[in-house]
Formats: sequence, C-alpha cells, structure tokens
Amino acid sequence: MSDAPGMKCLRCQSEMVPLGHETLVTGGSGATAKFFLGQLAEMQEKNWVVNAYRCPNCHHIELFDTGQ
Ligand SMILES: [Zn+2]
Repeated sequence: MSDAPGMKCLRCQSEMVPLGHETLVTGGSGATAKFFLGQLAEMQEKNWVVNAYRCPNCHHIELFDTGQ
C-alpha cells in the first residue's frame, strides 16, 4: 500500500501529500537519519529509499520502506 492514493493522516485525518521517493542515509553521523529512524540509524550505514508522505495540516510525515 506504499503507493496508495488518498492516504489519510493518522493524527488528524487530513489528506496526505505524496513527496515521492526520498533517500535516507542510515548510520554514520546522519542527524536526519537518527531523527527519523532512532536506533535503526545505529545500524550499518546504507542508503534507504522510502516513500514519503506529508500532512499539510499537522506536518506529520509518514515513511514507507520501498524494499530497495
Ligand atoms: Zn495530520
């Protein structure tokens, strides 16, 4: 369901806006990866491609693993 259209925000039920594929770099000193992934960011460094959605109302961000 990573490409499902019309996804609703879990927090406020607003329509989420697809941001497309984003590449997160996990591991190393990537502050962004640590922010999103927490302890997962402590794992071996790699590029992680995710589908990102953003809520225009409450700014909640949802990430889905693309398996790449
Ligand atoms: Zn929201």
